[in-house]
Amino acid sequence: MTTALFWFRRDLRLLDNPALHQALAQHQRVIPLYIHDPEAEAPWQPGGASCWWLHHSLAALQQELSRLGSGLILRRGDSLEVLQELINTSEASHIYWNRLYEPSLIARDKQLKTALQQQGLEVISHNAALLFEPWQVLKGDGQPYRVFTPFWRSCLRQGLPVQLSPAPTKMPALPRLSSLALADLALLPRLDWAKGFEQNWQPGEVGAHLALQNFIDLALEDYQHARDRPDLPGTSRLSPHLHFGEISPARLLHGLQTLPPRAGLLPHIESWQRELGWREFAHYLLFHFPDTPQHPFDPRFAHIRWEQDEQGLSSWQKGQTGIPIVDAGMRELWQTGFMHNRVRMIVASLLSKNLLIDWRQGAKWFWDTLLDADLAANTLGWQWTAGCGADAAPWFRIFNPVLQGQKFDPKGVYVRRWVPELAGLPDKYLHRPWELSSEQLQGYGLRLGENYPHPMVDLRHSRERALARFGTIKDLK
Ligand code: FAD
Repeated sequence: MTTALFWFRRDLRLLDNPALHQALAQHQRVIPLYIHDPEAEAPWQPGGASCWWLHHSLAALQQELSRLGSGLILRRGDSLEVLQELINTSEASHIYWNRLYEPSLIARDKQLKTALQQQGLEVISHNAALLFEPWQVLKGDGQPYRVFTPFWRSCLRQGLPVQLSPAPTKMPALPRLSSLALADLALLPRLDWAKGFEQNWQPGEVGAHLALQNFIDLALEDYQHARDRPDLPGTSRLSPHLHFGEISPARLLHGLQTLPPRAGLLPHIESWQRELGWREFAHYLLFHFPDTPQHPFDPRFAHIRWEQDEQGLSSWQKGQTGIPIVDAGMRELWQTGFMHNRVRMIVASLLSKNLLIDWRQGAKWFWDTLLDADLAANTLGWQWTAGCGADAAPWFRIFNPVLQGQKFDPKGVYVRRWVPELAGLPDKYLHRPWELSSEQLQGYGLRLGENYPHPMVDLRHSRERALARFGTIKDLK
C-alpha cells in the first residue's frame, strides 16, 4: 500500500484538479492536506478579506471531502516542517501539488522540492491555475511579451485547452492523524466587517459553478456591452473563485464550448475569453517581471515625486472624497469585498493621478479589502491605471470621474445604491452635485460639507498638476 500526501494550496476544488487526479490514480492512500503558512507569502500575506474567503472555501472543501469518504488535515506553520512531520507519521512516499506562480511561493516551492527529494520523496507538480505555463508563450526572439494583444494572439494560436480531469467520486479514508479545527487557523476578521460578504458570496466549488451558470444564463449574451456598466449585473463575479482555484480557467472555456450555438453569441464569448486572457497576462508578467508589485514596470516612474497625503488617502479609503462614483466604488468595496472593474480603474486613476498618491498605497488597500485580491491582477491593474505598467494606459490619460459616471452609470443606479445621501438628486447632477447651488442642494436634502463632503480635489486643476508632474519624467530614458 503506497501513501501520498496531496497538498491543497490555491486549487480548492475536486473537478479538474490534475495533481489530485494523478495522486488518486496511483496510490491506495491519499491524504488531503492544507497548511496555513502566511509567512511564506511575505510581504504579501493574504489580507483580511482574502482570509475570510479562505475560511469559507476550506469549510466547503472539507465538507466535500468528507462526503467522498475522506477529510482534510489542517495545519499551520512552516510548510516544510509540517510536511516533514506528516511524512514521518503517515509514511508517505510521494507528495503532489499544483503549482503557484507568485515569486515568493516559487522560491519556497523550489526549496521544499529539493529538501523533500533529498529525503527520498517523490514530488509531483502540475499546472492547475493557468491556461498556459508562462514559459510556453514567448516572442520569436525568446523574450517575454510586454504587450497584451500579441501575447493573447500567440495563446490563441497554440489553442485554448478545454480538457478537464474528472472529479473523484469517492476517496480513500483518512488515516488517524492530528489536525487543527478550521477555527484554529484564525482566518475570520476580528471586526464585524464581513456581514456584507456573507450576503453576496458563496465561497467554494459549488458556489463557483453556480456563479458560472448564472453568468452563462443571465449575462453572457450581452457581456460585450454590459461588462463596463457597474449599474448592471453584466459580469461573472468569478474572480475570487478563480483566485482560490475553486474553478479552473479550462473549466470556464469548456463551459463556453459546450453551449448550444446561438446567433450573435460569439462576440460576447470572445470578449469574455479576452478578459480571461488578461488574467493569464497578469500572471505571465508577474512570472517574468517578479519585482513589479514593488517597482514600476516603466523605470522612469521611479523618479515621480508622490504626495504624502494621509488625509487624502483616508478619505479615499472611506469613500468620502465627495466624488460620487469614486465614493460608490470605495463603499461597495468595503461592504461587499468587491468593486466593478470599470470603477476600479476610476478610483485608481483618482488616487494615482488627481491625488498623486503612490499607486502602491492604493494597491495595498485593495490587497486588504478585496475578496479577489490577487498579486498578479492587482499589480497589473494598478500599474496599468497609474500609467507605469506593461501595455498600460498612457500617463496622460486621466479618467474624468464625472464623464465616466455619466457614461457608465447613466441613470445613477450604482451611485444611488452605495451613496444613499445622493439618492434624491436628479440624474443630471448626480455625478457632479457641486454644480448645484446650496439652495438647490438643500431642496434635494443635501448639504455639502455636512451630510456629504465637498469634492476633495478640483478635477481640472488636479489633472493639470498630474500632467505637469508626470511630464517631468517623460524624457527620461
Ligand atoms: P469578468 O468580467 O467576468 O471577467 C472574467 C475573469 O477574467 C475575472 O474573474 C478575472 O479573473 C479575469 N479578468 C477580468 N478582467 C481582468 C483584468 N483587467 N485583469 C486581470 N484579470 C481580469 N482582479 C483580480 O482578480 N484581483 C485583483 O486583485 C484585481 N485588482 C485590480 C486592481 C485594479 C486597480 C484594477 C483596475 C483591476 C483589478 N482586477 C483584479 C481586475 C478586474 O477588475 C477583476 O478581475 C474583475 O473586476 C473581476 O470581476 P468579474 O469576475 O466579474 O470579471
